[in-house]
Amino acid sequence: MSHDNCLFCKIAAGEIPSTKVHEDDEFVAFRDIRPAAETHVLIIPRKHIETLSNVTPEDAPMLGRMLVLVSKLADKLGVAYTGGETGFRTVFNTGPGGGQEVYHIHAHLLAGPRPWLRMG
Ligand code: 5GP
Ligand code: ZN
Repeated sequence: MSHDNCLFCKIAAGEIPSTKVHEDDEFVAFRDIRPAAETHVLIIPRKHIETLSNVTPEDAPMLGRMLVLVSKLADKLGVAYTGGETGFRTVFNTGPGGGQEVYHIHAHLLAGPRPWLRMG
């Protein structure tokens, strides 16, 4: 799917509404419209990359910052691993074989009491 017709590019641009939990020059994070868990946030780069199979070595610094943002957001949302039974799951679905529905790279951040509806 092209950048012009991409749902997550439109969400990042504010052309389609979403419940944002974070926004900066490089990334946007927003609540999943069909949450599978009590906390279910999607973290996307503003750069349109279709899947994790389309990244190049030049994307490495961005992908590193993306994971650091996941950690920061887990903290902000109160689901970071702080010992005991705490913590969260981070998922990148890639291609039909990986269950990907939206072809703009994104990390799922999931947390909360089981059972989860999907990906649990
Ligand atoms: P994927 O299956 O591609 O890894 O995940 C796509 C996710 O995007 C799904 O969990 C789905 O619920 C979510 N999603 C699809 N359309 C929208 C939308 O318009 N707004 C929001 N906030 N989430 C969406
Ligand atoms: Zn896109």
